[in-house]
Amino acid sequence: MNLEDYIASIPDYPEEGVTFRDISPLMADGKAYREAVNKIVDYADKKQIDMVVGPEARGFIVGCPVAYEVGVGFAPVRKPGKLPRKTIEVTYDKEYGQDTLTLHEDAIKPGQRVLVCDDLLATGGTVKATIDLVEKLGGVVIGCAFLIELLDLHGRDKIEDYEILTLLDY
Ligand code: AMP
Repeated sequence: MNLEDYIASIPDYPEEGVTFRDISPLMADGKAYREAVNKIVDYADKKQIDMVVGPEARGFIVGCPVAYEVGVGFAPVRKPGKLPRKTIEVTYDKEYGQDTLTLHEDAIKPGQRVLVCDDLLATGGTVKATIDLVEKLGGVVIGCAFLIELLDLHGRDKIEDYEILTLLDY
């Protein structure tokens, strides 16, 4: 099975010059979704992880089934105002302006081994902020897994100290 066949590429969305890589056809196909998740599970199984962490919203789509299959917990990283209990936050620079992500302050225990999951690595800002949140709580990021990497945005340069698994690149 070629997973690339299940990614839809939409030119000039959400703005001109950007090609949106849509994973919803992959999610809609049970075999393709399972194959993609299982590839990340195979990686995670070798790493003895304690937790999976993923940023909203598509990080949940990738990270939750991985956590379930490995048999560990999942902690959601969310935009401000979405998590109901005490949170920590990290603000990071985007192409235009800044963004903030939050994590419950008890989501990760010091020393826990964490796999970070998201659908796509673009500039790397989102994954770097997610890593910073985990490390603020004393977690150990053992790797980052994505379905897709956009090579020309060089996101991996922002996380060069971490292991990266990507299933497809563009
Ligand atoms: P970045 O922080 O630049 O690495 O962006 C990563 C986040 O933005 C991921 O959570 C993706 O869901 C989303 N994203 C960025 N660029 C694209 C794209 N071309 N197609 C689909 N999603 C994207």
